[in-house]
Amino acid sequence: MSSGLKILELTFDEFLEILHTRYGKGIYHARVIYREVFQNGILDLKNTRAFSNSQNFAHAITSDLEINTGKLIEIKKEDGTTKFITRLQDDHEIESVVIPMATHNTICVSSQVGCRFGCKFCQTGQLGFARNLTTEEIIGQVYSAKFKLNLIARNIVFMGMGEPFDNFENVIQAVRVLNDQRGFNVALRYITISTVGEKTAIQKLSSLGMKGLRLSISLNASNDRIRTQIMPSRKISSMETLRHTLIHYPFSKKETIFITYVLIQNINDTYEDALELAEYVKPIPSKINVIPYNPRSASPFESPSTEKVMQFCNWLAECGVFIRKRSPKGQDVMAACGQLGKIKKS
Ligand code: SF4
Repeated sequence: MSSGLKILELTFDEFLEILHTRYGKGIYHARVIYREVFQNGILDLKNTRAFSNSQNFAHAITSDLEINTGKLIEIKKEDGTTKFITRLQDDHEIESVVIPMATHNTICVSSQVGCRFGCKFCQTGQLGFARNLTTEEIIGQVYSAKFKLNLIARNIVFMGMGEPFDNFENVIQAVRVLNDQRGFNVALRYITISTVGEKTAIQKLSSLGMKGLRLSISLNASNDRIRTQIMPSRKISSMETLRHTLIHYPFSKKETIFITYVLIQNINDTYEDALELAEYVKPIPSKINVIPYNPRSASPFESPSTEKVMQFCNWLAECGVFIRKRSPKGQDVMAACGQLGKIKKS
C-alpha cells in the first residue's frame, strides 16, 4: 500500500530531505527521481537506467510515490485554446485553460473550487466556495497539460477559479515547486498571480522576496462606489488602500503591474470612468488590460460594443495610460481572476 510521497507538493530540497530520512538516499537519487517525474512524467522508476543496480529501492520508491492530479473528464478546443476540466478525488471539478501565444503557451490554473468573493461579473463567483485546492491539485493542472495533453506552457497565470491569495500558502508553495530548476523550472517572471487585491496578502507576498513574480490586479472600477457594486466582498481592500499598497510594492525598475479592467456596459464605461481610472493608476507602474465583459447565463450585465471598447481605450491612452494590446478571442478568458466556471457541453 502506498505511503503517499506526494512529490508534486515538494520542492527538490524538501524531496531530498524526505528521501534521505525514509531511504537514506542522497542527492544523486533525488535528482534522478525529481527529473523523471517533473521533466519526463515517469512515475515507474523500475526501468530507469540509473537504478538498474538498486532495483529494491526502485520498486520501493515507485510504490511510494503518489500523484493525484485528478481525472480529465472534458477537453474542449476553441480558437486554438484548450480548456480542460479535472475531476478531483472528492468529485469536485476544476477548470484550466491553455492559451497559445505567439511564441509559447500560457496555462491559466485554478486555485480554489469556486470562490467566496462573489464578484457579480465573474462566472466562478456565482458558484460559491467549496474548498481550497491543495498544492498538488494546483501543480497537477500543469502536470496534466504537459503529460496528458502534451501542452507545454512557458507562462503560468493564476487566473482560473478562485482568489489565489485566499489560498495563500498552497499557492505560494505551488509557485516554489513550479520555479524549482530541477523540476518544471518555470522562471518567476513567467508566473503571474491575479488577485482582487487585499492589502495584507500583497504585503505578505512582498515580504517573501520572490523577485520577478508577476502580480495582476483585477480592478474593474474607477472608484469604490462602482467597485463595491460589482465586487461586494468586504475582504477586498478599498481602492485607496490598494493603491497605497501597490505604490509601496517592491517592484524592480523594469517591472510593471497588470491591472485588468473588465469593461461592462453602463456600469464602468463612461468618459468620467476613464479619467478617474487614469488618475488612479498614475502613481502605480502599471499597464491596463481592458477586457470587454463577456455575458454569462443569467448575467445582469451586458457586453460593451467594439466601438465602445476602442473609445474607452483611446480615452485612457489620451491620458497617457499604458494599455496592453487587447487579446485575441481565446485569451479573453484571462480577463480577471476566476472568469471560469463549468464548461457547458455543446
Ligand atoms: S473575480 Fe476572482 S475574486 Fe472575484 S469571484 Fe471571480 S474568482 Fe473570485
